[in-house]
Amino acid sequence: MQFMITQLHDPQDCPKDIGGFRKVLINEKVKGLKLKNIYVEHGSHTIVYIVETDDYNNIVAFLEPGMMTCTSSITPVSSMTMAEIMKK
Ligand SMILES: [Zn+2]
Repeated sequence: MQFMITQLHDPQDCPKDIGGFRKVLINEKVKGLKLKNIYVEHGSHTIVYIVETDDYNNIVAFLEPGMMTCTSSITPVSSMTMAEIMKK
C-alpha cells in the first residue's frame, strides 16, 4: 500500500543546519518500506513523503527519528498512475 505522510516541525526544531531532515527526521533504511517521493514546503516547515509498504510498523520505524520534534499525519493513497485512473 502507498501512504502520504505529512510531517510538520517547529521552526526551532528545523533540521536544516544540523544535517538536514533526511538525517534527523526519518529513517530511510527501514526494510520493507520504499520512499517514493518527497516534497518540501519550506515556509511552513512541512515535509510530505510518499512511501510504499504493507506493514504499518514500517511507517512507525520510518518516522521514529523525528518522533519527539514532529507531528505527522499518515494517509493511505492510491498507487495508481494518473493514466490508469483516467482509463477507469
Ligand atoms: Zn524546517
